[in-house]
Amino acid sequence: MAAHMLISEANRRGIGMTSQRTRERLIARLCEAGITHPDVLRVMRELPRHLFVDEALASRAYEDSPLPIGHGQTISQPYTVARMTQTLLEHGPCDTVLEVGTGSGFQTAVLAALVRRVYSVERIASLQDCAQQRLRLLKVRNVRFLYGDGFLGWSDYAPYDGILVTAAPRGVPRVLADQLAPTGTLVLPMGEGDRQVLMRVIRTADGFEQLVLEPVSFVPLIAGVA
Ligand code: SAH
Repeated sequence: MAAHMLISEANRRGIGMTSQRTRERLIARLCEAGITHPDVLRVMRELPRHLFVDEALASRAYEDSPLPIGHGQTISQPYTVARMTQTLLEHGPCDTVLEVGTGSGFQTAVLAALVRRVYSVERIASLQDCAQQRLRLLKVRNVRFLYGDGFLGWSDYAPYDGILVTAAPRGVPRVLADQLAPTGTLVLPMGEGDRQVLMRVIRTADGFEQLVLEPVSFVPLIAGVA
């Protein structure tokens, strides 16, 4: 057997042996950190995060930390994915969701398991291709992908019950808020450097209601496509 095959076989077995225990430890940690939504916890327990990172990092996939996915981008920390998803779902029924920043596709897969349809925009084509392949492998079929600038949202399918942004703009992009359905929820990181916060924006009868949730650390939302 070729060396790289041996390595990948060892990796697979390593994952096989440790995954159940480390996955349960991760779920316990999410619960302690305030994730209470049973469906969110179920999906976080079931989804194989190790398939969303490079094989060399697979053994760390069930740690509660962000990991590099290439192009200077990261797969978000599991806690953050769970927190954002829970925030999106707890305000009301969520049928259609726009995701800005597909990245590895992990958050996309979490959303796809919980809502009817997900629309996901990414500005780096190769990341989007990989994400699309992963979701195909996992037989996730309710996601549409757009290669484009998420600052513009995706007007073709608007309005959305929920919009989730996984990279940080400096302020709430008005175009995205405008693509929210009445009573829809936008969840996004906002700000620069080490002064970012997670925000929830809800569309109301008179405009928008903003709530600051907690400090976070995301890559910046960058205008235009790569
Ligand atoms: N949810 C992803 C996060 C990836 S990091 C995951 O967990 O894997 C954020 C992603 O947002 C990167 O892939 C980056 O390329 C993308 N991004 C940044 N600015 C963007 C923009 N204007 N439009 C679309 N995607 C953008």
